[in-house]
Amino acid sequence: MQIKGIARDTLNFILEASKSMAPVEFAGLLQEKDGIISEVLILPGTESSDTNAILRLYMMPNIKATGSVHSHPGSNRSPSQADLQLFSRTGNYHIIVGRPYNKQSWTCYDKKGKTIELPVLDVEFEDYEEF
Ligand code: ZN
Repeated sequence: MQIKGIARDTLNFILEASKSMAPVEFAGLLQEKDGIISEVLILPGTESSDTNAILRLYMMPNIKATGSVHSHPGSNRSPSQADLQLFSRTGNYHIIVGRPYNKQSWTCYDKKGKTIELPVLDVEFEDYEEF
């Protein structure tokens, strides 16, 4: 499935979650619908742990997703060695969010850790109901 981009609402959710959880890492798996990344499966169990979030994500069984997302506690958004291992294992779209967790503080990488462009799309889903 060709990925066209990420839904703006989904990206905003990721940024909000990263900000509210900092300095604890936020991590999850990205899922697409009709070629648009529009869902985040949050890693269960966010209590503080000796193991960081990305490593716990990496240890999840049957990992299958369009990609992954996680936050860094600082402003450095370069993937770590553990990040690259996870990237190579699932999907081709991996978002890293860094401080200060605003609209500019995220980068998308491919499975090899190379920066890629991920358009932010305004989408309305069919199952969306307005009241
Ligand atoms: Zn990382």
